[in-house]
Amino acid sequence: MARWGAATKKYIKNKQRAGEIARERVDILMAAAGKAAGTHGEGPEMARRYVHVARKIAMKIRTPLDPKATRRVCKRCDSYLLDGTTARVRLQGKGKNAHVAVTCLRCGNVKRYHYQRSRPGGPEGGQP
Ligand SMILES: [Zn+2]
Repeated sequence: MARWGAATKKYIKNKQRAGEIARERVDILMAAAGKAAGTHGEGPEMARRYVHVARKIAMKIRTPLDPKATRRVCKRCDSYLLDGTTARVRLQGKGKNAHVAVTCLRCGNVKRYHYQRSRPGGPEGGQP
């Protein structure tokens, strides 16, 4: 943070520009988090820091993280949820109740979201 504190403040004159830069940074941080989460040792902890900072920036500019990013982040502990490494992904329920359950392996928080079994025109769409 200190690295782009004073200089950035001077540089950013209007809010719109600030928003652009902030969004860019959020993207960069999320990408970095994704990379870090996949590496051994300190990786997942580093990813958690990146996510934490990204969320803070997003909050400051009052922009929610994009839906893709939200699904990859643990709400409770800021972990970057990477299937098989920092998260366990399971399909649960049937029919209308079918959903994906992503369990954070760090704090155990479960995130659920619905998925569509078949999408018309999608890869698993109905028979021709
Ligand atoms: Zn968690």
